[in-house]
Amino acid sequence: MINVLLLEKSKQHFASLEKMLAQQTNRQYQIRWCGSFCEDIFANRYFDVILVVENQNNDTSLTIIKQIVNLELPIPIILISSLEDTAFDDRAMQAGATDSIPFSELSSALLDRSIRHAIGRRNTEAKLSFLATHDQLTGLANRYLFYEHLTRSISIAKRQQSTFGLLFMDLDKFKDINDSLGHDIGDMLLIEVANRIREAVRVTDVVARIGGDEFTLLLDDTKNKKELALIAKKIQNAIEPMIKIRQHELFVTTSIGIAYFPECGLEPQTLMKSADIALYKAKEFGRNKFHFYTNDLNEQARLKLELERSLRRAMIKGEFEVYFQPQVNASDHRISGVEALLRWNHPTIGLVAPSDFIPILEELGLMVVVEQWVISEVCNIAKKLTDKFGRIRFAINISGSHFKLGNLKQSIYMALQDSSLNANYLELELTEDIMIEHVEKNNHILNELSDIGISIALDDFGKGYSSLSYLKNFPANILKIDKSFIDNILTDGKESAIVEAMIDLSHKLGIQVVAEGVEDIKQANFLTEKNCDFIQGYYFAKPMSVNHLQKYLDKNLSHFKQKAKRKKYTTEPSRIVINHH
Ligand SMILES: [Mg+2]
Repeated sequence: MINVLLLEKSKQHFASLEKMLAQQTNRQYQIRWCGSFCEDIFANRYFDVILVVENQNNDTSLTIIKQIVNLELPIPIILISSLEDTAFDDRAMQAGATDSIPFSELSSALLDRSIRHAIGRRNTEAKLSFLATHDQLTGLANRYLFYEHLTRSISIAKRQQSTFGLLFMDLDKFKDINDSLGHDIGDMLLIEVANRIREAVRVTDVVARIGGDEFTLLLDDTKNKKELALIAKKIQNAIEPMIKIRQHELFVTTSIGIAYFPECGLEPQTLMKSADIALYKAKEFGRNKFHFYTNDLNEQARLKLELERSLRRAMIKGEFEVYFQPQVNASDHRISGVEALLRWNHPTIGLVAPSDFIPILEELGLMVVVEQWVISEVCNIAKKLTDKFGRIRFAINISGSHFKLGNLKQSIYMALQDSSLNANYLELELTEDIMIEHVEKNNHILNELSDIGISIALDDFGKGYSSLSYLKNFPANILKIDKSFIDNILTDGKESAIVEAMIDLSHKLGIQVVAEGVEDIKQANFLTEKNCDFIQGYYFAKPMSVNHLQKYLDKNLSHFKQKAKRKKYTTEPSRIVINHH
């Protein structure tokens, strides 16, 4: 059924047009007449096409056409006129008519064809405009359309002195899902999330997907922050329940940043930026949190951005440096190995501690690249120093990102090949939490690396789950006891008993033990007594540059050479002190 509206002052042509349309047996037309134009005509009725009949007064019909166009209704308009004047036709088209037919040429077939073409064109236009303004995956508004709505909301709120809210959402750890399950699953997840957001809000609220896993929501007429907080919570609750995609049962959470007009910005860009900054802050508090924008956030975000920029520059300009902290044999304090530690020489701040920049490297996705650089740098240095000083183990800390996002095996093989370093001199330090994820896959990688002679150390043992039974499944040959345990071995009987048990059990499993964070001789002696294999800590040496490491190695090893020459046996191990600051 095609609904036709006839706009004509007198009902003069209604009957003849109705008859013409009735002759078309392929289609069913229903025609209604209206004597004058007003908005109310469209209130309760839908029309597919509007016929405007020109009543000897050209300008009146053109005015009516313009009025209809101004309503922004997606209905095509056909002008039927008594004039056979192409100039007038052009004016009608410019005003917004889709077609113009003179009465003299009018026939049932022509009218039918003109209507069909007009509707077809309207449909194509609507489709194109939908594509240009909507996200193709989820059908939500896109960034462009969202900005249009936002601009409109701002001007209405300014006029009415009202307020409204803007929510900026992104899924927590969405990248992990995409990386591990593939983009197909990721896309299906986004569609479901989009549906859940849409269902959680009013039909009139504008929801948009503005990129990857980023969604925005415009909430007109929100009265206060409490109301916005409730909506944010409602959306989080809607997304939280399990989403089943194929055989995968996925649980996703959302972080939300909230900005509101006019406090957080008067322009679309500033409001969006405020909501984005608030989102950033929400993420800092962990998953599934929402946060309101406040002015001091802007300053924090600026500092963080600056740090990000500097880190990217640090990569390019070579501001990273590897420091080395020696490990010694517990029995005689001869150097046995070093742990490589990343440092950042900031051109103005100076040396930056890893805890201040490594989390940001992880967040920026730069961790793998930096770590690849560390691996190759350490292998090159290790090659030079082991050629000169003999066997020393060089330990490198490996992040979880390298397992997840990089190709650890390839990074290691390439560095070994380029440097010609003997794999026996290399050690990788990993923390438990890395190994708990994807146990089988990661163990497989580590077994392969272990097979070519690389040592695997379980780092920071005592900080996390510290499950001793876990050790038997983990392909490690070295266990590093965390400083937090060592701190109390002399004062806390229970902790010293645990350390002793750790050492014993490790030895039974064929694993050697390194004690970290040893700060005085008493701790060192206690550990030696309990058969700990290696000791690392400030008592022996702080982390040092490669130049200082050379001097340290010179002194430490020549001491043992001389001792061997004298063939004198001393029971008291000697500490090598070197000033490197
Ligand atoms: Mg370590």
